[in-house]
Amino acid sequence: MNIDSIQNGYVIDHITAGKAMQIYNMLDFASLDCPVAMIMNVHSSKMGKKDIIKIDGEVEINLEVIGYISPDSTVNVIKNGEIAGKSHIAPPEKLIDIIKCKNPRCITTTEQDIHHVFLLSNAKKREYRCRYCEAMAR
Ligand SMILES: [Zn+2]
Repeated sequence: MNIDSIQNGYVIDHITAGKAMQIYNMLDFASLDCPVAMIMNVHSSKMGKKDIIKIDGEVEINLEVIGYISPDSTVNVIKNGEIAGKSHIAPPEKLIDIIKCKNPRCITTTEQDIHHVFLLSNAKKREYRCRYCEAMAR
């Protein structure tokens, strides 16, 4: 595909350098049946280096995952070859089934049917804690 001429899709810009692959994996972009381009280590006057992901297709994107991995990203919605909308991402207050608690004694580890819920405990440091055992994410 010509990555500069997306007709209908998304350009996820200002991704923290090195994080594009993590977004790609967590959102399972490999399973999409439309072209996806990752451009890494792009020079940015604002950020030094950044990653960009371009998706040439109208698909559902979970912005919370992007907000968790790279909260400074912007998502441009492309319609008919032009930017139709721009969303600034923020760290979500709550992550449901996006990451898993690593505490072996946590109820989410021992019980199968419980949602993995993390709450933003410190917005400045972007720290998340398990809702059940308060273990910090990662
Ligand atoms: Zn836990």
